[in-house]
Amino acid sequence: MTFDHYMEFVNAGLDLREHGDTDRERLLLGGLGVADEAGEVAGLAKKTAFHGKTMDRTKLLKEMGDVLWYFAIIARLYDMTLDEIMEANVFKLCDRDPRLHGDPEDIITERAV
Ligand SMILES: [Mg+2]
Repeated sequence: MTFDHYMEFVNAGLDLREHGDTDRERLLLGGLGVADEAGEVAGLAKKTAFHGKTMDRTKLLKEMGDVLWYFAIIARLYDMTLDEIMEANVFKLCDRDPRLHGDPEDIITERAV
């Protein structure tokens, strides 16, 4: 599954009208949802790094998926695809970090093949 395929799945099943009366409410739901679920990922990381727990990979997968769900709500609100977001991030990182050599266009194209 690709991110865009995931977004198609989200778009098919997600009725934004069920997640708030206004886009402001939907944005708030998405933002708070990302923060809430990212907090759950952070909790797993903390317990693994500092409390002697073994990372529960299945739980981590589910929590990271929850982050993705809320992230997708925000992406949908602003008519963004997840591929578009990843590509923008490649450009940003290549511009910021000299260790990431290469033309961002080439990097994006190579990964798309
Ligand atoms: Mg969760």
